Amino acid sequence: MIQRAKHQSAYAERFACGRGDALVVVDVQKDFLPGGALAVPGGEEIIDPLNRFLDKFSRLGLPIFATRDWHPRSHCSFREKGGPWPAHCVAATPGARFAEGLRLPSRSVVVSKASDPSRDACSGFDGTDLDARLRKAGVRRLVIGGLSTEYCVRATALGALVRGYSVSVIEDAVRALDPGGGRRALDELAEKGAVLLRSEAAAV
Ligand code: ZN
Repeated sequence: MIQRAKHQSAYAERFACGRGDALVVVDVQKDFLPGGALAVPGGEEIIDPLNRFLDKFSRLGLPIFATRDWHPRSHCSFREKGGPWPAHCVAATPGARFAEGLRLPSRSVVVSKASDPSRDACSGFDGTDLDARLRKAGVRRLVIGGLSTEYCVRATALGALVRGYSVSVIEDAVRALDPGGGRRALDELAEKGAVLLRSEAAAV
């Protein structure tokens, strides 16, 4: 009973954030949005919810990180190389750009990943300096949204949890390639200690 009440309050209460918190926007790139090479259904619907958090973190001067897939043309995850995906987010092409309308401030730290042709990297921590940068900024909790729920959001959130960070995932600021897989990923993250919240919580 107590557990249930606690869980519900996580949605109802305003999300208080401050020193030690960072916003991590995962792979909100054109190729992952409708019309892109590897479109996530409803991917464009996360931009408004993410902007609420971007505005809040901007206003409070808190750290903002944005990860991006930054693949070479012949990346191993592409079908032509025997991988599972169509070619997407090739470095410096229009499809690799961040979504239009996403209010990333210019001071955001951009973390490029999966730029080694022979390795894929779903987690923002994989092969990057994200962990070092977060520690340097004194970050203890990550607030995460982006694409897609069951791949790069899941992997980044798990990567944060195993490194000892607290994690909050903005439920309405993530979308899955497969809705069932997305639900399972959120359940798994909650089970492992992530807090699920909604963007209304960012309202002033
Ligand atoms: Zn990729």
